Amino acid sequence: MLKGVRRLPIRWQITFWFSGLLAIVLLFFGLTLYFTLQTDQLARIDESLKRRANEVRLRLEGATTAANLSAQQVSEALQTNPLDEFADPGVYVQVLDEQGKVLGDSYSLGQARLPIDPALVVVALNGQTSTGEAQVSSEKVRIFYQALTVKNQVVGVLEVGESLKPYTDTLGQVRLFLILGAIVALLISLAGGYWVTRRALRPVVRVSDTARRIAATRDFKERIPRTVNIRGKHDEISELAATFNQMIEELGRVFTAHRQFMADTSHELRTPLTIIQGNLDLLKRGLPPTEAAEAIEETREEAARLSRLVSDLLMLAQADAGMMVEHHEIDLPQVVRRSYHRAVQLAETQNKPVKLSLDKLDPARALGDEYRLDQAIFNLLDNAVRYTPQGEIHVSLSVEQGGNQPARAVIAVKDTGPGIAAEHLPHLFERFYRVDKARSRALGGTGLGLAIVKYIAEAHEGEVKVESQPGVGSTFKIIIPVI
Ligand code: ADP
Repeated sequence: MLKGVRRLPIRWQITFWFSGLLAIVLLFFGLTLYFTLQTDQLARIDESLKRRANEVRLRLEGATTAANLSAQQVSEALQTNPLDEFADPGVYVQVLDEQGKVLGDSYSLGQARLPIDPALVVVALNGQTSTGEAQVSSEKVRIFYQALTVKNQVVGVLEVGESLKPYTDTLGQVRLFLILGAIVALLISLAGGYWVTRRALRPVVRVSDTARRIAATRDFKERIPRTVNIRGKHDEISELAATFNQMIEELGRVFTAHRQFMADTSHELRTPLTIIQGNLDLLKRGLPPTEAAEAIEETREEAARLSRLVSDLLMLAQADAGMMVEHHEIDLPQVVRRSYHRAVQLAETQNKPVKLSLDKLDPARALGDEYRLDQAIFNLLDNAVRYTPQGEIHVSLSVEQGGNQPARAVIAVKDTGPGIAAEHLPHLFERFYRVDKARSRALGGTGLGLAIVKYIAEAHEGEVKVESQPGVGSTFKIIIPVI
């Protein structure tokens, strides 16, 4: 039963729980009321039976002077006044002698007789009163047995009865009223409960409808209106709507970024592939030796770019999947020196008129991944070499003691290249963001280098910063905590 209720829609569950509780309360109060009334009524009947028995006893005692009673005397005493209460239908008296034989009865009994319970007659003759119930004609009668004494001598037994019909009628009416009342109350509670919970849950339904619509249409611009209660405050449902709206916004952002990334990725992959395909077609058709050599060189460069692009993409995909960098104790000067030498070699092989110098190498150790950190520093150096046509590149590692903050290592790569305009700085670390698309491509960039640097710095609980002035140069800094 309970399992069945739990499978119902929540509005029915709440309605049933409340109606169930109401039913229990109604049952408890109904039963208490009914049984209290029943006991009270019976006590009242027994009380009046006792009072009447006493009256009859006094009347019969007055009817005789001897210590016995004849049937004649009894009949006269009981039936002389047909207007007294013993003439009422439903109120009966019957007098028995010591042997249990009927001596006389009240006018109201007519031809009928009150049933005689021999056991109770014996109890009465022994001086104790008792009560029983019996059927007289078509009605139930409550009968009170009491010894009949005349001049302190037991001469017989008095049976005083009262029809239980008014009592059962009243109880029947009360029962009917209680049952009907309970049914009506339960129906009202079911209907009202359903209506109230439906109203209360309407905002929740709105939330789920909106969620369903967004899932179907991918329109992340939809929002759920927030409601305020009478006191002008946001209620729980409104808080839910706010959280939900926040989630939609975030989902929308992620979805758009993802779509953009997919579009950018396929575009980035398509360009080198088109160039490679074009060159191969030309070579197939046959080219003069110098042009063929050029086509082969260009194809080789594009293939190299593709391979770099794919490994950068792989790196970012791993980062998105929550790849953790390893956390070993690393010697930072060693890592910086290694990246620096690689950059020097790079500049030499490219015959670049740039002068690299390692300005400062503070001793510092950090927890992290040597290989990834080297990759991040080298990406900065690679950019510096690539985008500085001629000039200087300064590399340094310094440790900053930041007051009450933990000490941090700052790895700075400073160049005297073209610099970057201020409006580009906030976007520089976004995937595929380039200040000058054509230039970046021409120089072999993938547009992912700085995004990777940012990820690696953050994976080391650090950050990456850039300062740049067009025409003067740029300084990129990787800042990570030291141990
Ligand atoms: P890319 O592969 O195009 O270099 P990055 O993510 O490494 O991609 O850099 C993003 C953009 O930032 C570059 O396209 C370039 O325009 C700019 N940039 C990066 N480093 C420098 C630098 N040292 N000097 C000038 N511009 C730079």
